[in-house]
Amino acid sequence: MDKYVSVAIDGPAGAGKSTIAKRVAKELGYLYVDTGAIYRTVGYHMSLMGIGPKDKDGIERCIDDVNIAIDYREDGVQHMILNGQDVTELIRTPEMSMMASGVSAQPCVRAYLLDMQRQLARTHNVVMDGRDIGTVVLPHAQVKVFLTASAEVRAERRFKELTAKGQQVKYEDVYIDIVKRDEQDMNRKIAPLKCAEDAELLDCSYLTIDQVVAEMKAIIRKKAEV
Ligand code: C5P
Repeated sequence: MDKYVSVAIDGPAGAGKSTIAKRVAKELGYLYVDTGAIYRTVGYHMSLMGIGPKDKDGIERCIDDVNIAIDYREDGVQHMILNGQDVTELIRTPEMSMMASGVSAQPCVRAYLLDMQRQLARTHNVVMDGRDIGTVVLPHAQVKVFLTASAEVRAERRFKELTAKGQQVKYEDVYIDIVKRDEQDMNRKIAPLKCAEDAELLDCSYLTIDQVVAEMKAIIRKKAEV
């Protein structure tokens, strides 16, 4: 019997993974780990250094200077601290989405972050979301869900989220970015986005947040017997 329960939620951009994972984690009293935020933080560091998302040598040279801390505050937000600076909001832009997708295809970046993610699962009950959690990071997770929705629905949700934050974006650009990012994430050589063989596939295109949370908790109860 494992000491801790791991819930792995993977899926494409904008499927609602973080909204759902955050709520499920709160209701179960588990730690929510947003692994996309960690890749975004690495991408942010590289952009500060003037290094492009495909500059393999530059990224390899700088990866050891990336000092990331995750700070779980009472506001329930996973604060990302990069070399002492809180970058939680700075990483939530369309540019940083693409930057994260670019740097995350580099093996040195994935290797660098793997242990950080596994360590959190070794020491807590977690709901961890990302692209390769059920396939690579936590292949023995008791619960695996692949959460997806149509590209149009996902772009619409992301568009609303960004405009609600006051960012000036066009729906068409958000849609193009989402499709491009999925394409990059699914076709990279290392840890591509895919549904683990033993994951439950959940299409939430026509479900409300409450319905997805309820479905997810039912899956967790069934698989992890909690
Ligand atoms: O989930 P989010 O949109 O914040 O992720 C940003 C990018 O980080 C993704 O497009 C993906 O390229 C990368 N990522 C990853 N593996 C993860 C989580 C995110 O490659 N586990």
